[in-house]
Amino acid sequence: MRYISTRGDAPVLSFEDAMLTGLARDGGLYVPETVPTMSKAEIAALAGLSYEEIAFRVMRPFVGDTFTDEEFKEIIAKAYAGFGHDARAPLVQLGPNHFLLELFHGPTLAFKDFAMQLIGQLFQVALSRRGEKVTIVGATSGDTGSAAIEAFKGLDAVDVFILFPHGRVSEVQRRQMTTPSESNVHALAMDGDFDDCQARLKDMFNDFDFRDGVKLAGVNSINWARVLAQVVYYFSSAVSLGAPDRKISFTVPTGNFGDIFAGYIAKKMGLPIDQLVIATNQNDILHRTMETGAYTKAGVTPSISPSMDIQVSSNFERALFDAYGRDGKAVAGQMDDLKDGGFSISQGAMEFLKEQFTSGRASEDETMAQIKASFATTGEVLCPHSAIGVKVANEHLGNSPMVTLATAHPAKFPAAVKDACGEDAPLPPRMADLFDRDERVTRVANDLEALKSLILERTGKATPA
Ligand SMILES: *Cc1c(COP(=O)(O)O)cnc(C)c1O
Repeated sequence: MRYISTRGDAPVLSFEDAMLTGLARDGGLYVPETVPTMSKAEIAALAGLSYEEIAFRVMRPFVGDTFTDEEFKEIIAKAYAGFGHDARAPLVQLGPNHFLLELFHGPTLAFKDFAMQLIGQLFQVALSRRGEKVTIVGATSGDTGSAAIEAFKGLDAVDVFILFPHGRVSEVQRRQMTTPSESNVHALAMDGDFDDCQARLKDMFNDFDFRDGVKLAGVNSINWARVLAQVVYYFSSAVSLGAPDRKISFTVPTGNFGDIFAGYIAKKMGLPIDQLVIATNQNDILHRTMETGAYTKAGVTPSISPSMDIQVSSNFERALFDAYGRDGKAVAGQMDDLKDGGFSISQGAMEFLKEQFTSGRASEDETMAQIKASFATTGEVLCPHSAIGVKVANEHLGNSPMVTLATAHPAKFPAAVKDACGEDAPLPPRMADLFDRDERVTRVANDLEALKSLILERTGKATPA
């Protein structure tokens, strides 16, 4: 299994190298050269299996010879052992033909644990075999950072630095990043918004001297291994609702397009998916793009669903790559235009995207109203991100069962939940002391050189002046 860049001008890599590299050296994202498919019988055979066994069967073909079957099974077992629910990704019913896929039973209470816990184990096995140490730098709008810190803390082959926008993450999110005491963990509160954090991260990856000097590795949702981990729960949920004999629809609260792109991969692998619905908050670049064909940046307006406060949606590049018939030059051209504010998608590419995805948005008021309505009619307490999903899903209900992805536990966003429902959403008991733990964080400016110096110094790679 070989991985190629969406911009067509970077080395072709194995699964292991694509995973350890993150962003391709031409600025593109790695995708499999060909997507393996599963037959109807193979999909049907997943029914009734454990989440771990489904994960093994779905992901195995993508991994190639990077791990033996035994190694890969053990990695998967360790990744999901810390989840607070035996089903890992349980489904609950919201209404006739509408189901909620609860993806928040991992250690940091958001769906990103599914990918990050797996990546932690994958990195550990691959790096200890190579006798190497890497520096992980990630940018987060809140949930990625805590999930990465939880997955990598205490691993001696890894230093982990997480950039988050100062003052723009919830208190629970911040505390999950700043309270781990392991010395390989570095939480950095940066001036600016999430896009600034992501931009500085990309700058570091594009500085090859720095990148090679600290052995930079990326675990943002651009990392292929993360997308892959997320493909699994599309299969597990669809099969328990009658796939492959029935088509299933999914609505996905979307920011960086990683989670919904995993659904697209599941479909390409042969899972019968009817609709794949993109749900955005008021920062609706993806919804506008689907409506108008123009991908145009607009400033980010902070919302009550901060993990979706994004104006440049990194993984969308992977969808564009397929929409342009896998023409890396065409993608590179569009990404160049993005630096000047945006680009128009060709008619042919737009037709492709419209065949694969539909979209909707929810305003702040609509999000609050949905949290309230869901609580009143089902007793289900939704986080704001999941509420956006449910609101948009309700507008797309049809003949096939609809699965809305619940991306975070309501206790991660207590203020919005309390406002909407009038009740507190308590943290699960295993996290109840989060507000009593000591915090450790470094304030940093939105300044590439300063960030690089700090990382060089903390990793012991600084050359004396
Ligand atoms: C990251 C995140 C999202 C958006 O997921 P993408 O893969 O970036 O589209 C939605 N909801 C929550 C709670 C998240 O943490």
